[in-house]
Amino acid sequence: MKSSAPFLPTTRKQMKQLGWDQCDIIIVTGDAYVDHPGFGCAIIGRVLESQGFRVGIIPQPDWRNKDAFKILGKPGLFFGVTAGNMDSMVNHYTSERHVRDKDAYSPDGQAGLRPNRASIVYAQKCREAYPGSYIILGGIECGLRRFAHYDFWSDKIRRSILFDAKADLLIYGNAERAIVEMARLLINQQSPQYTKIPGIAFSCSEIPETYQIQEFSDMDRKTLDLKQPSSVIKLSSFEEIKVNPKYLSQATYIAYMATKPGAPSLIQKHDNRFLWVNAPPQPLTTQEMDCIYNLPYARLPHPMYGKSKIPAFEMIKDSITLMRGCFGGCSFCSIAMHEGRIIQSRSVESVIKEVKAIKKQSPKFSGYISDLGGPTANMYMMGCGQLEKYLECPRLSCLYPKICKHLNTDHSPLIDLYRKVNKIPGIKGAWVASGVRYDLALKSSEYIDILARNHVGGYLKIAPEHSEAHCLKLMMKPEINTYEIFERQFKKSSQKAGKKQYLIPYMMCAHPGTDHKDMVALAQWLKNKNLKIDQVQIFLPTPLTLSTSMYVSGKHFNNFKKSVSVPKGGRARSIQKMILRYHDKNNWDEIRKILYRLKLSHLIGYGKDCLVPKNIKLLQI
Ligand code: SF4
Repeated sequence: MKSSAPFLPTTRKQMKQLGWDQCDIIIVTGDAYVDHPGFGCAIIGRVLESQGFRVGIIPQPDWRNKDAFKILGKPGLFFGVTAGNMDSMVNHYTSERHVRDKDAYSPDGQAGLRPNRASIVYAQKCREAYPGSYIILGGIECGLRRFAHYDFWSDKIRRSILFDAKADLLIYGNAERAIVEMARLLINQQSPQYTKIPGIAFSCSEIPETYQIQEFSDMDRKTLDLKQPSSVIKLSSFEEIKVNPKYLSQATYIAYMATKPGAPSLIQKHDNRFLWVNAPPQPLTTQEMDCIYNLPYARLPHPMYGKSKIPAFEMIKDSITLMRGCFGGCSFCSIAMHEGRIIQSRSVESVIKEVKAIKKQSPKFSGYISDLGGPTANMYMMGCGQLEKYLECPRLSCLYPKICKHLNTDHSPLIDLYRKVNKIPGIKGAWVASGVRYDLALKSSEYIDILARNHVGGYLKIAPEHSEAHCLKLMMKPEINTYEIFERQFKKSSQKAGKKQYLIPYMMCAHPGTDHKDMVALAQWLKNKNLKIDQVQIFLPTPLTLSTSMYVSGKHFNNFKKSVSVPKGGRARSIQKMILRYHDKNNWDEIRKILYRLKLSHLIGYGKDCLVPKNIKLLQI
């Protein structure tokens, strides 16, 4: 077995030091190269290395110069292209479309080191550098743009990124197995049987006759049959979606229902070609998760960055991923379409091994693990009790509207893990910074006790998102009284532990179905609790979420007959944010105007329900 490189090479000199004349695979990424399992590029690079492939990295190349893509020579097998840990447009612009002045994934937070739509630009430059190279797209930008999709930044429907990037293949979601399989096939010069590799997308000119095509009109989506392996499911075409946005809703809804391991592939016509998207891979086993997270990462940024700090690394360097996936199904979130709804957990032993690696390798380690979590903090080792019927399950969420009776909600494996981590010599504590799913946490008072006692340092961030029932319904989030029950229990548990601790609720504005009156109601809810929140998330219609389909079509995500009002345009969206920040003097004039317009002027004044005071200047005149 080959030994691993201290860092994957980024120059020819480093390749030479490893005794390589060529890389098998070159990963081009929009992020700085940090050899840490919190960075997708490091994971994929190390996984391929562990399978004997020679992997080089070109981080943040100058995309204006094709020579920057030649620095490692031509790869023997393929270029792997990724925008990095974030979609490059989300990385560059706020939800108010303002340009961000910092990039957390670049040295010293420097902005401007990657292009807009980085995957498309990088793929084009790889081709220019070495015409005829095989190009595989990956990462979140490509994964969530795998179908025809809405692009908020250009306010347009765009084709699948596979076509715009003119790449050979796209791997979405958990890419480890698929990328190794592709590398093996290409090294053996076998032409891949694309239809047989889960988790990939490719283009083709026709659908083989052996496949039966499941087609849907507006009304008959309920006939979707996921247990027909010899069929393909046809989504509305790019051209149809472009002309009529309701087809985006239809395609998104079907893609959500059908993106399950073992389901038929999805096809979508783009002009005279078909996009073919295979079902996602079977979930990673605990053993595979352990292997992936215990690879020999340096757990540091590449030495080329010298003393520069990479903010995202500083934030996550001492945190640990316990699991992947989420079965929560919030309609504005795309995790399920990326990592899947089935939870994939690591073993306790593997987590302990990583804690010890942090102790040994992390610079200036404080003794505290900054997060023991994942997409959601408390889904470790949980899952469906009848997974053999998973393809038949008609629900989009295992938690909403009620926690499914088939869901195993046992928190004891997580409690056991927390206890074992806390006992490791030299560990002063481990925080939980990932979002706690509070409806699920209410299933275990022991969990809330241990969370409050040992894993919260004064404040716990929680995301109820809204107070109004009809808004929460469209977000597929639990009703606000569930949050309030959790709040009481958390307070009690904190008191039992002799601690004074608080919840910080995260709220969202401008989600489809949320109007200004709803925001006033939410502001009153906050005021009644004496809460003044500074961080308000303005809903961002990112590709491939159910909420984005509502934003575009103005229709409910699974009922086209039901219209949904959508706050669109910068002003309408930022007014909603302003209302939530009722305590900010700078917003008072604007909020008064809105309250008059909404015929809610009784909320201006000094009573306990009032959101803003009267305008003293006007009174004086
Ligand atoms: S049956 Fe219940 S627990 Fe299983 S996948 Fe469906 S909703 Fe989730």
